[in-house]
Amino acid sequence: MADQPAGIPDLIPHYIDGERVASVDGDTFGVLNPVTNEDYTVAASGKQADIDLAVAAASRAFHEGPWPRMKNRERARILSRIADIVESRDQELAQFESWDSGLPITQAKGQAQRAAENFRFFADLIVAGRDDTYKVPGTQVNYVNRKPKGVAGLITPWNTPFMLESWKLGPALASGCTVVLKPAEFTPLSASLWAGIFEEAELPRGVFNLVNGFGETAGDALVKHPDVPLISFTGESRTGQLIFGNSAPHLKALSMELGGKSPAVVFADADLDAAIDSTLFGVFSLNGERCTAGSRILVERSVYDEFVERYAARAKSIVVGDPGDPKTEVGALVHPEHFDKVMSYVEIGKEEGRLVAGGGRPEAFPEGNFVAPTVFVDVAPEARIFQEEIFGPVVCITPFDSDEEALALANNTKYGLAAYIWTNDLKRAHLFAQDVEAGMVWLNSHNVRDLRSPFGGVKASGLGHEGGYRSLDFYSDQQAVHITLGDVHTTRFGASA
Ligand code: NAD
Repeated sequence: MADQPAGIPDLIPHYIDGERVASVDGDTFGVLNPVTNEDYTVAASGKQADIDLAVAAASRAFHEGPWPRMKNRERARILSRIADIVESRDQELAQFESWDSGLPITQAKGQAQRAAENFRFFADLIVAGRDDTYKVPGTQVNYVNRKPKGVAGLITPWNTPFMLESWKLGPALASGCTVVLKPAEFTPLSASLWAGIFEEAELPRGVFNLVNGFGETAGDALVKHPDVPLISFTGESRTGQLIFGNSAPHLKALSMELGGKSPAVVFADADLDAAIDSTLFGVFSLNGERCTAGSRILVERSVYDEFVERYAARAKSIVVGDPGDPKTEVGALVHPEHFDKVMSYVEIGKEEGRLVAGGGRPEAFPEGNFVAPTVFVDVAPEARIFQEEIFGPVVCITPFDSDEEALALANNTKYGLAAYIWTNDLKRAHLFAQDVEAGMVWLNSHNVRDLRSPFGGVKASGLGHEGGYRSLDFYSDQQAVHITLGDVHTTRFGASA
């Protein structure tokens, strides 16, 4: 196994008002490495009191500090510096991420580079951005006065944690908000690097605050805090429902990126080689712990047997290994609790489908959270493994006979995050895209995204769409200012007597 990376602190602290601090009550929780399942350090366990301090610091920075009042160009310079620093530390970041989450190191490095790109993108966007002005000739001018909303509460999951944090931090900071980040309790390590990165980039004190801890304590306190007007959340759909309810008394602005069970639909006329490469990558990269994983593959019956045979052979050859080894394609799942959940679905799958690859712990790994890439075929749409998000290296494959049946199967879950369509028939591709219930559709590709395009799900997969200027809209108020030119024409109440 790879050595523990240098520089891991004995305590992963909170970061509040520019200081690295322990919890007010001194409480901590253990942080484990998913290859050994042994704790390698502890993190400060935040509660209401820690959230109160973090929100107070962020409020002060918002109401009294320079950040929301800076020119966009000045803020963009700092964001670009953050991007440069993240990029220059991609190796260290990847080592921390891989050690803490079990992600294969090469994929973790790609995620670190994407995190840098997120900051660079939003720096560019606020400099190039413009707002609307409307002229009513001779009568009125109307313009949009864009203002940051305030203290943003950011709650993130443990899959690709650093990248997903950047996906919220970038637009929140670019908009001029100050923030309190509550990272996932399974993976606090890489998040601990933000403080140093922001200090080096000279982000003003108090703009960024971080409180570690559990969802039910730290996360809940952030959601219910009256001085946090908006919550951006990424995580499970049922957590999203809970947060929705808890935000209701405060009528908070919510952005929710939730779970998925996305279909990859392979028609007989598709480039089968490309479809096999891409659908393998789509579900087994990032250990299958990917919200947009194409975890239900629907294949037209005339190519079904060939597809299944070739797919299973490739799945069996996927390199499962030490997350720190650059050759590893699938590493260790994040935590034994999650491992147990995924393994329970593997057992359920053995009752519901025909197992053609994997099916449990690989022999070479008697310990740690390793699951062999697992493929179930002939899976019926009522099956739990067809309907429920497994969030691991497990895929189900189902045949279809017509376009109508493919669409019905694709739409037959409560989720609607992504859909992948493989066909060389232009009309079929676009018609299918129009009717499939998914926030994002890829034609003849896995998930490769232009940062300007909308990101988000429909149905149980999310609320609202971020991406490009939509993210800036979420973190800003767009005040309308109406200016009357010349005389005001007013109906004169009380003037008739
Ligand atoms: P989770 O819902 O268990 O936890 C996510 C975060 O919410 C964590 O920080 C957790 O501490 C916090 N939390 C939990 N309960 C809370 C509460 N009551 N109040 C406030 N905060 C609370 O999700 P997870 O297991 O960490 O992540 C995996 C899930 O995330 C999967 O369902 C996956 O599909 C989803 N996800 C979605 C996207 C997307 O963009 N749609 C991206 C990545 C992950």
